[in-house]
Amino acid sequence: MRVVVPKETGAERRVALVPDSVGRLVAAGFSVAVERGSGDAAGFSDAEYETAGAGLVAPSELAAGAEAVARVSSPSAEEVAALAPGTVLVGFLSPLTDTVGVERLAEHGVVAFAMESIPRITRAQSMDALSSQSTVAGYKAVILAADRLPRLFPLLMTAAGTVAPAKVLIVGAGVAGLQAIATARRLGAVVSGFDVRPAVREQVESLGASFLDLGVEGAESSGGYAAELTAEDQARQQAALEERIPEFDVVITTALVPGRPAPQLIPASAVARMRPGSVIVDLAAEAGGNCEVTEPGTEIDHSGIRIVGFTDLPSRVPFHASQLYSRNVLALLLHLAPGGELALDFEDEITAGAAVTHEGRIVNERVRAAMEGPVTT
Ligand code: NAD
Repeated sequence: MRVVVPKETGAERRVALVPDSVGRLVAAGFSVAVERGSGDAAGFSDAEYETAGAGLVAPSELAAGAEAVARVSSPSAEEVAALAPGTVLVGFLSPLTDTVGVERLAEHGVVAFAMESIPRITRAQSMDALSSQSTVAGYKAVILAADRLPRLFPLLMTAAGTVAPAKVLIVGAGVAGLQAIATARRLGAVVSGFDVRPAVREQVESLGASFLDLGVEGAESSGGYAAELTAEDQARQQAALEERIPEFDVVITTALVPGRPAPQLIPASAVARMRPGSVIVDLAAEAGGNCEVTEPGTEIDHSGIRIVGFTDLPSRVPFHASQLYSRNVLALLLHLAPGGELALDFEDEITAGAAVTHEGRIVNERVRAAMEGPVTT
């Protein structure tokens, strides 16, 4: 199977396959073509790709003979139009929200697999790109917060006096939130965590943070995800957070409900109660944000409070985000095409779960349901 790696467009700095994974694919029987300069922004040179066994090609040569395309983000309409029917595509394809993009893939006969749709089962852990990229985002959120905060994170006892540690609250203790807790702790902050899933308390505490009890508990779906809170519970949560939020120097929010807009947890009135110089990093910005005043994609100063709403945190750590993502893509490709020969088995939970389009149709139940209305689990 010939796998091609296009250079990502826009501000994306990650690359779908790093040289190490190219070497592993070649050893497993694949041939790999990489668009020149694809790895530059992430710190992987064309020379390294060549040494790993990839062919370097110009953009115009990419589509010819491509049997699989490995991407980070969705391809453009022109790119899709250039693909032969039956070409396999893997990448973050926003299957639950990008209706136009998914329909276009179906129309062109692309066999698309969305990294977001890979079932989160033990067997698919090595392909779990949501987790690998959330880990990077959780780390980077804390680093950004520490940089923006006009205070130090650790307790310092110096001859010039004692500095009290920063107080950090992490809302949403999934993969990104737990990494944020661990990172903030390592920097010496006093950390509290909160999540609507009660099962998370133990994980928060095992990382040395305290669990903030807001008196709000939500249901957990079979996949371990949070279900959306009722309007009444959400209002209670907002009120409880508003009460507690002035205690914190930094609030990092990561609360997401798959396929739904991010729950709004921090109203403008709560932001107004924070001390000047405090920082909110809203990791849910891409889904609208957990904070009412977040502006997705940018950072703002809101009456002296810094609110960071970047939607590209993994791309801001492009070397390691690419390295981890690439291992996820490698594992998926080896699953779909063992020994470099495409062998799609739609009876297999991973293949069927990740597939979005096949033979001109949208084959994913959740994607079809999302097109018809809100997804609830
Ligand atoms: P996510 O990104 O969908 O959500 C982040 C967190 O926000 C979740 O912990 C969620 O409970 C929380 N949240 C939702 N609404 C909230 C609210 N109103 N207030 C506060 N918090 C709220 O989640 P994720 O990081 O992708 O992980 C979700 C679950 O999947 C976790 O239990 C995780 O352990 C599990 N998981 C399992 C596997 C596996 O088995 N292979 C892999 C990765 C993750």
